[in-house]
Amino acid sequence: MNPLADRPILIASGNIHKHKEICRALDLPSGKVLTPLDIEETAGTAPDPVEDGDSLLENAIIKAKAFSKWSGMPALADDTGLFVDDLGGNPGVHSARYAGENASFSDNVEKLLRELSAVPESSNESHFSCVLVLCDKDEIILSVEGTCPGHITESPRGSDGFGYDPVFIPLNETQTFSEMTPDAKDQLSHRGQAVRKFANLYKEIMTTGAKS
Ligand code: IMP
Repeated sequence: MNPLADRPILIASGNIHKHKEICRALDLPSGKVLTPLDIEETAGTAPDPVEDGDSLLENAIIKAKAFSKWSGMPALADDTGLFVDDLGGNPGVHSARYAGENASFSDNVEKLLRELSAVPESSNESHFSCVLVLCDKDEIILSVEGTCPGHITESPRGSDGFGYDPVFIPLNETQTFSEMTPDAKDQLSHRGQAVRKFANLYKEIMTTGAKS
């Protein structure tokens, strides 16, 4: 039996920027993708699970399972990290709280630039990785990964996007993610790639009832 038949997907995140990026790239009819805000009135306060996994995959599974159990819907979680070569892969899985528990996006960016400026002759090479996991309660239905190589700028540039977007330039590009249009970011980004992979597998399940 198709585990997803006619059931909407819940995006397991409170991050409005991620909702927009995932909904744009999934390109499913409205009503097929819901966010926690859409159901909080009936389901109560959304969960805030502790993301204590050692990898993006483990953290994405933690989030997807928690939101699926809360909502009763298949839940799609994203876990993303920025991995900087000359910082030994940091901030990596700690990207959200790099500058501390309640760090803002700009606190994290400042810490990253400070640490990188202390590295002699840094290459500034880095990559974003994004793992997407779809869970139905405790069952993992799908998982995919998208990556985007690039480098870190010396200072923030641009006003769109979120997180580390103002300091990340994808490989062979001249603009940071924050200087690009949302569509241009989607074409290149880790999340855009992961969502397109996800959408293909999801459509396969919806048409055949199983993934090949
Ligand atoms: P999360 O744990 O998946 O929410 O992501 C960890 C952190 O990575 C976020 O708090 C952001 O700072 C950063 N991040 C995630 N996705 C992006 C992106 O697409 N661009 C820039 N930064 C991002």
